[in-house]
Amino acid sequence: MKTKTLKKNKINVVTLGCSKNTFDSEVMMAQLKANKFDVTHESTEDDAEVVIINTCGFIDNAKQESIDTIIRYAEAKKDGDVGKVYVTGCLSERYKSDLESEIPEVDAFFGTRELPRLLKTLKADYKHELVGERLLSTPSHYAYFKIAEGCDRPCSFCAIPLMRGKHVSTPIEELLHQAKLLAAKGVKELMLIAQDLTYYGLDLYKKRALANLLEQLCLVEGIEWIRLHYAFPSGFPMDVLNVMKNNPKICNYLDMPLQHGSTKILKAMRRGITREKTEELIAHIRDEVPGIALRTTLIAGYPGETEADFQEMYDWVERSRFDRLGIFSYSHEENTHAFNFEDDVPQKIKKERSDLIMDLQSGISHELNQKKIGKTLKVLFDRVEGAYFIGRSEFDSPDVDNEVLLKKEGNYVRIGDFENIHIKSADHFDLYGDICSK
Ligand code: SF4
Repeated sequence: MKTKTLKKNKINVVTLGCSKNTFDSEVMMAQLKANKFDVTHESTEDDAEVVIINTCGFIDNAKQESIDTIIRYAEAKKDGDVGKVYVTGCLSERYKSDLESEIPEVDAFFGTRELPRLLKTLKADYKHELVGERLLSTPSHYAYFKIAEGCDRPCSFCAIPLMRGKHVSTPIEELLHQAKLLAAKGVKELMLIAQDLTYYGLDLYKKRALANLLEQLCLVEGIEWIRLHYAFPSGFPMDVLNVMKNNPKICNYLDMPLQHGSTKILKAMRRGITREKTEELIAHIRDEVPGIALRTTLIAGYPGETEADFQEMYDWVERSRFDRLGIFSYSHEENTHAFNFEDDVPQKIKKERSDLIMDLQSGISHELNQKKIGKTLKVLFDRVEGAYFIGRSEFDSPDVDNEVLLKKEGNYVRIGDFENIHIKSADHFDLYGDICSK
């Protein structure tokens, strides 16, 4: 084993999975920094004494990626390239005892709500006065903003409640405090996230409070864009649409995972809504908030999904013309309700069906993008890549949606700034344009 000089006080945090994990890692990093550790996020220097891996345990691919990452650092530890390896997050919450026996090189495993114990293991204190503080891992002009943890929904395929527990809303005062801290650091865009955003407040205030929260967040100086992710269709709080309509700070954008387009499958999934009611809801949202960009997520190959069920979903996607869409192949997850049924759709068919929907969506996205040519869009610039400045309009969330590309040659924009861009051309997922002359 070669000996390598590792920085004793240095901790490298590695985040896998969704934006909620990103949020949790950022909270953890702020605590570590306040305890005088030298904290990095996904550093490639490989000179940190300690590595903390924040894992994902959602579905097969994500679980495999987490296991591969743990094994990679366990090997690095054997080679003397890392001193200590700690694992936290959803995979650890869900499979702690299996992981402890299968990967003994890991120094300790922690659950999704065990930050204080993790800090104690590092001989650090959990600093309550830091509540709301984060060390951002995103570009400094936008931040994920978790408004609640856990989920009370009974969706048959989903293991998230097993890993994240029951729904717990964060009090509005605390969220406003967090938003002000972020704005003071230069954050202009907040991506509101939760397992089920629209459930916000039902536990704490015994009523849906997302609309109220949004109205108050709109008053936070410095925040210019507020984006809604992970809305749930059944029991959708319509007052949110009024707030969206009346507040230009709230992006004309809504992410609402709908999971399937066949009422038979939606019932089997225990989603509490039919396809017909879903279509009514979408039509109502589009009426109430004209020009809104709708993002959704679907699952292909759920147990019992026949060719006819799939065709019903395909036709529904064709009719619904979502602005943004992602699809997963069904993953047979232990301890979920769906695990009681036979996983009878072959993997090959699941993949074929997912690909068919994505091909269809790619065509829809291309058509919708053509309609943006000649329009002027307010764009927030995120990065420089090759010959382009790359940004997003209010219709696009980072990492998952379309982008707006501005040639570097002859132009200058500061990353983190807004510019009005006149759209000149478009392809399936990107728009190209010029700065509007002031
Ligand atoms: S709403 Fe359904 S799919 Fe989403 S986290 Fe909750 S149980 Fe899972």
